[in-house]
Amino acid sequence: MRVGQGYDAHRFKAGTFVTLGGVDIAHEHGLAAHSDGDVLLHAICDAVLGAAALGDIGRHFPDSDPAYAGISSRVLLREVTAKVRAAGYRIVNVDAVIICERPRIARHVAAMCANIAADCGLDATAVNVKGTTTEKMGFTGRGEGIAASAVCLIDSRN
Ligand SMILES: [Zn+2]
Repeated sequence: MRVGQGYDAHRFKAGTFVTLGGVDIAHEHGLAAHSDGDVLLHAICDAVLGAAALGDIGRHFPDSDPAYAGISSRVLLREVTAKVRAAGYRIVNVDAVIICERPRIARHVAAMCANIAADCGLDATAVNVKGTTTEKMGFTGRGEGIAASAVCLIDSRN
């Protein structure tokens, strides 16, 4: 068994919604990114890749490549899952935290977990997402953007 961790942050830009865990959530800003800016799924991709020592999301999906402009991060997570499987591992579980003052995360957690479970080939009981604030401290506290952190366990046994 092996563990991986991932972290990501994106700044707010003009917009009307943010995409977190594949769920579009109405907000007074969007998230600036080459892809859809889904910080949660990016952190999970890095955790999954990290567990298998396969580098990081930037190496597999460079933001200089126009093929990934505006792409759904769920596509990236499915590709990451396939890469880790091809390396001989199965994902055991994923735990993640979204760090922001707003939007509020709680009512969207079940939909995010369902998306992540589907993309990683997991049972919904093997995925956990929660939100936290930094009590107004730092860039997330000032409402400049959203960060996310994730851990993932993988297993080479069948
Ligand atoms: Zn990102």
